[in-house]
Amino acid sequence: MATKKDYYELLGIKRDATPEEIKKVYRRLAMKHHPDKNQGDKASEEKFKELSEAYEVLSDTEKREKYDRFGHDGLRSSFGPGGFDFNRDFTHASDLQDILGSLFGDGGGIFDDFFGGGRRRTSRTGPQRGADLRFDLEIDLEEAVFGSEREITIPVGTDCSDCKGSGVASGSKRERCRHCNGSGNVISGGGFFQVRQTCPVCGGEGTIIRKPCKTCEGAGRIKVRNRLNLKIPRGAETGVRLRLAQKGESGARGGPAGDLYVVLHVRKHDLFERRGDDLYCTVPVSFELAALGGEVRVPTVDGYAKLKLSPGTPAGKVFRLRGKGIENVEGYGRGDLHVRVNPEVPVHLSGAQKKLLKQFAADVGETNYPQGEQFASRVSSFFERRETMKK
Ligand SMILES: [Zn+2]
Ligand SMILES: [Zn+2]
Repeated sequence: MATKKDYYELLGIKRDATPEEIKKVYRRLAMKHHPDKNQGDKASEEKFKELSEAYEVLSDTEKREKYDRFGHDGLRSSFGPGGFDFNRDFTHASDLQDILGSLFGDGGGIFDDFFGGGRRRTSRTGPQRGADLRFDLEIDLEEAVFGSEREITIPVGTDCSDCKGSGVASGSKRERCRHCNGSGNVISGGGFFQVRQTCPVCGGEGTIIRKPCKTCEGAGRIKVRNRLNLKIPRGAETGVRLRLAQKGESGARGGPAGDLYVVLHVRKHDLFERRGDDLYCTVPVSFELAALGGEVRVPTVDGYAKLKLSPGTPAGKVFRLRGKGIENVEGYGRGDLHVRVNPEVPVHLSGAQKKLLKQFAADVGETNYPQGEQFASRVSSFFERRETMKK
């Protein structure tokens, strides 16, 4: 299959173009390539369809966001099988009529022809795919490390079962809209500039509800709480999206359900900090252990591990425990655990302890504190330089 063209390039607009700009550009290009203006020109018709696909996506906030984030792949669920199909997926027929109405008279015959005759009416009352839903879920680091299964409850729109989605009270029927005489459209303007617009009373349906269903108040849709089992993969991290096919809003009038996207957010952990697949942990040790050397127990996600400190382990020294991090969500092995050792200064010393420390201090020399010694020499050379600068 040929690579799909970038929608922005196709319309020749910037990625941050406003809806008004997009509409303006589409209007100009759609006029130029409209099949009725280029009868029998296949290339022009193809171009027109491509432009319409780009407009379908970029004029729809939700679709545009998906496209901006995931490219053409992000739209896989937005259109029917085989990708965008003008006759099935173009939902801006009324925009097109607004745009082109003045060019092609009232548009009636031309458009009915182009859309296969009255397509708009069937799409309003025929099956319709449900909307995709996004659900943000917070998980603990433990769940991200080991993976987990949990039950989530998602409020989902579905056809009202009392009226089977019609919105009409039982025993009653939809009645013909008197404003548009059942056509769903009203004509405004006159002569060459006649514009056909969607009827404001019935919203283009051609019929209205006099006695609405009590359960859904005439909407035909209600919200239900869907319980779902969710599998969180090992190594899941913030931003991971899990797609649950057909678990979004249920379709209208027998159409397929949309998809549900669960976006994961991993909570901050009180022991481990995560960076990619690696974990970081700071472990306090007694200052005498750091000085004398010895063993420390450090926590890992797999349980305790032993760490051997050599005598004179400096503060801030980092030990790397290979393979003790998080399993990569795509299966590229496991990260490491970085343990930073933090020798702690003792507090609340007793008189006897203080005495011992003072004895120790009297005995200890500069060479026992290499960092302090180094620092002192840097300080003195700094002041020497400073003195020469002054002169
Ligand atoms: Zn109902
Ligand atoms: Zn009407």
